[in-house]
Amino acid sequence: QPELAGDFGTLMVWADRVRRLRVRANAETPADCRTAREFGAEGIGLCRTEHMFFDGSRITAVRQMILASDEAGRRAALDKLLPEQRSDFAEIFEVMAGLPCTIRLLDPPLHEFLPHEDAEFAEVAKATGIDIEKLRRRAAELHEFNPMLGHRGCRLGVTYPEIYEMQARAIFEAAVEVAEKTGEAPIPEVMIPLVATAKELKLMKAVVDKAAEAVFAEKGRRIDYLVGTMIELPRAALRAGEIAEAGAFFSFGTNDLTQTTLGVSRDDAARFLTQYVEKGIYARDPFVSIDVEGVGELVRIAAERGRATRPDIKLGICGEHGGDPASIAFCEEVGLDYVSASPYRVPIARLAAAQAALKA
Ligand code: PEP
Ligand code: MG
Repeated sequence: QPELAGDFGTLMVWADRVRRLRVRANAETPADCRTAREFGAEGIGLCRTEHMFFDGSRITAVRQMILASDEAGRRAALDKLLPEQRSDFAEIFEVMAGLPCTIRLLDPPLHEFLPHEDAEFAEVAKATGIDIEKLRRRAAELHEFNPMLGHRGCRLGVTYPEIYEMQARAIFEAAVEVAEKTGEAPIPEVMIPLVATAKELKLMKAVVDKAAEAVFAEKGRRIDYLVGTMIELPRAALRAGEIAEAGAFFSFGTNDLTQTTLGVSRDDAARFLTQYVEKGIYARDPFVSIDVEGVGELVRIAAERGRATRPDIKLGICGEHGGDPASIAFCEEVGLDYVSASPYRVPIARLAAAQAALKA
């Protein structure tokens, strides 16, 4: 850990001796995974796969998938994306060398993937042979007034299960490949986003398990893995007891959980929240430090109900709050197992976790 040499490195060693919370990183590129490890991350807590889909060479296939009017059209696009995803995951697994990696299946606000410019429509038309006017009509049909509350997260997986099936296949193919190449088996934790009901998670877990079994049979090798979910909607927190029947872990997505609990858009909050903090309505910016009375109460309820169903359920946090010292103190108090923060905040999280443990 070259960046953490000298006195700071010593301080980190002391912190690691006393902290109870594990510290992971939010990362989706091999470079970020390397940085995370240099800073002492003990795994990946959130790999946002939608970020992988924006890459210049892939976005046309992604647009093709979104704009396809039927399953066959989507599958044709997914076939192009499978090898790309497989190598994305293989690179990450290799860097993380046997540490747990939580990979979140696709959670895009759909509008970010729709073509807008003429040239973008033209590219999809060229790749698919579909008439450009037809593509425009399809894009108009898919327009949403409120994409953050729209067709995103597992809702996409429920309506188009073949997308999650492709991603799960890529994860397990990559895991087997890396296990064979390096002799160290990766630990994939497949995470389903924006779950509100237990049934959603059960349906999506079945898709993941089926893909896993198919890959293991083809390759003649099994990999241990977990399927779990994010808790980022108040309904999911309240129904955590049932949701834990299908999920081996919960990761609190406190960005969305704050947005949906407070009814405040995470993208527009800055316009008025400063005044709210100045006037003492919220003690701190709730998108930075967990709003302990509201969002925090839901985290407590979900942890309690999840554990009542599944005492060994693994609990973590991967919203921005996972790198905020005051929020980390709260996570210690609730007894979460790990926090996950952006790579450069990993040292802060290690220190904050140690301070929280000492205080406890
Ligand atoms: C969250 O909602 O807290 C989260 C980690 O997911 P994202 O920020 O990608 O919506
Ligand atoms: Mg989220």
